[in-house]
Amino acid sequence: MKARECAREGEVLQALYAGTLEGGLAGHAAACAVCREAVAVTRALWEAAPMEGEPPAAGLIWRRAELAARRELIEKSLAPIGVLEKAAAVVAVAAVVVASQWITTMPWWVLAGIPAVAFPAAGLLYLARKA
Ligand SMILES: [Zn+2]
Repeated sequence: MKARECAREGEVLQALYAGTLEGGLAGHAAACAVCREAVAVTRALWEAAPMEGEPPAAGLIWRRAELAARRELIEKSLAPIGVLEKAAAVVAVAAVVVASQWITTMPWWVLAGIPAVAFPAAGLLYLARKA
């Protein structure tokens, strides 16, 4: 398939956007199949979605597309982390439920021993870190 290009297509579209498609350039746009199609497509798009002023610069569109692609890549790469965070939350809730069930099966002297060991140990740790 032969590539359809015209060196004056950009010039024709710029004139169309500016509203100055006249004279020889308008004659070229009418005679050249590539430019005629570009003008017809542009006018059809304007009718479908009217636009005020000139279209945004190509560089701006390119940068926005790059940012959107980068954002999409970041979201795609962070998705597994979100799944793992939800799984970790479920595991943490399950661990609390299991621990609360397990602690009720302990004899009273074990439960009484936990603060008897934990509070002095916490106090010693506090003093050790302060020193
Ligand atoms: Zn042309």
